[in-house]
Amino acid sequence: LLVLGIEASCDETAAAVVRRDGTGRGEILSNVVRSQLDEHRPYGGVVPEIAARAHVECLDVIVRGALDEAGVTLKDLSGIAATAGPGLNGGLVAGLVSGKALALASGTPFLAINHLEAHALTAGLTDGLSPPYLMLLVSGGHTQTLLVEGVGRYRRLGTTVDDAIGEAFDKTAKLLGLGYPGGPEVERAARGGDPKRFPLPRPMIGRAEPHFSLAGLKTAVRQRAEAAAPLADQDVADLCAAFEAAVTDIVIDRVGRAMDMAEDTFGPDRPRWLAVAGGVAANTAIAAGLGGLAQARGYQLAVPPAALCTDNGAMIAWAGAERLALGLVDGLDFAARPRWPLDPDAPAAIGAGV
Ligand code: ATP
Ligand code: MG
Ligand code: FE
Repeated sequence: LLVLGIEASCDETAAAVVRRDGTGRGEILSNVVRSQLDEHRPYGGVVPEIAARAHVECLDVIVRGALDEAGVTLKDLSGIAATAGPGLNGGLVAGLVSGKALALASGTPFLAINHLEAHALTAGLTDGLSPPYLMLLVSGGHTQTLLVEGVGRYRRLGTTVDDAIGEAFDKTAKLLGLGYPGGPEVERAARGGDPKRFPLPRPMIGRAEPHFSLAGLKTAVRQRAEAAAPLADQDVADLCAAFEAAVTDIVIDRVGRAMDMAEDTFGPDRPRWLAVAGGVAANTAIAAGLGGLAQARGYQLAVPPAALCTDNGAMIAWAGAERLALGLVDGLDFAARPRWPLDPDAPAAIGAGV
């Protein structure tokens, strides 16, 4: 199967061509991404209207680039997949309409892809992983642990009751006067910092439900920063180090709890795998913490290369190929779904209490 994937749900315009062979192995033939970071940087966050316009302006070039780089034409494709949700409506509509138009014009089956499902299935493309496995998605918009039981079968274990972890990094960077996106800036500043100088809370640690909460931590950083103002570089470094250490502790505790819940699925002798996705996975301290946790709990860790951890077209194409292999296709009337939980049966995290 040869599938074109189109992604425009947030601040990356991306397209890729992926091949899936009969044994379920995947190969990336092209993977073209245009990030909108420069457009959004002056605002310190993603501005939906600017994002939608930027997607519309370059989608045709990005899709053309993905086809050319792969050396294929529309006629060669077995399917055309586009992200239908969750995400920002304007971008979703732009990407969806492009995919549908190409599918209609070429008579190719169309696949409407859930962005979270694409992140969840990426480990199959990069590491040849097959379900069941545990999945941690930590990006600017999402913080979830999922049990991937099969294509289309996902059990959400934990989610955030307020901010996503990437969002918390971005907001913390902003309040400390660092640049956007905040994650890499906070990580860089934290390198020269003392994580013990400013004690910070670790919300949710020890709770039975494996949910996350980041808002209180971010507020605590603000209070510490205000008390220490005016901030010298060393103060910022110490605050960043304390924040990063707190987030790492939270992630280890919450994922550990999700591992407890996954025990029934793995049983005594199945190999245990934890797949990680999302831009926050690039954080060295968090990655090291997850490595230690995996080792302690008898898990193997699948961390795709950064370009496939963050938003990209290859994961959309791959999710499309996996669905197509099961005979699943979607109608051209499939509408964008700005909200589209992967596991509609998951209990609302609001009830978890903060
Ligand atoms: P989604 O819609 O999937 O949530 P996104 O664009 O918000 O997409 P990603 O592109 O996967 O998410 O990741 C971006 C986020 O990752 C940003 O919030 C950024 O601050 C964070 N991030 C990137 N690098 C690091 C790092 N080294 N440490 C911590 N956070 C990081
Ligand atoms: Mg992004
Ligand atoms: Fe994403």
